[in-house]
Amino acid sequence: MSPESPDVNEILSEIRGATKRVTVAKRTVAEVLVAAPGHLTAEEITQEVQSRQPDVSPSTVYRILEEFEAMQIVVHAHLDQHAAVFHLAGAVHGHLTCDECGTTFEIPAAHFDALSKDLMRTFGFMLDRHHVAVTGTCEYCQANRRL
Ligand SMILES: [Zn+2]
Ligand SMILES: [Zn+2]
Ligand SMILES: [Zn+2]
Repeated sequence: MSPESPDVNEILSEIRGATKRVTVAKRTVAEVLVAAPGHLTAEEITQEVQSRQPDVSPSTVYRILEEFEAMQIVVHAHLDQHAAVFHLAGAVHGHLTCDECGTTFEIPAAHFDALSKDLMRTFGFMLDRHHVAVTGTCEYCQANRRL
């Protein structure tokens, strides 16, 4: 978790600031996201929330994730063909996913700055550096190929 990531209280005061109600479910989703080591699918977030608050339904968790996303507390990304993963918006970075072993590497979004500027200058296109992973072959799998 990067140092600029918000803590649970910051998230809750943001919700209050948007004049929305802070519920037990919202607090628990915020706690799970803050405690998360990395990228969680909505299903994994639901499991983790239900282990703390068994009464919270999956649809409630999905609705809260949508609300948090609309408030830019949370962002999601697509790392491979599977479900979208979520994490706190404070920790925006780029993703490199290996096609062979499936490992995802988080890299500083700044590595996409040159590409980002070039695409803007040449095509007027604004790159989203976080939303979709760049796929390829990791160092380890390339080394394995050569064996
Ligand atoms: Zn998406
Ligand atoms: Zn990420
Ligand atoms: Zn690999």
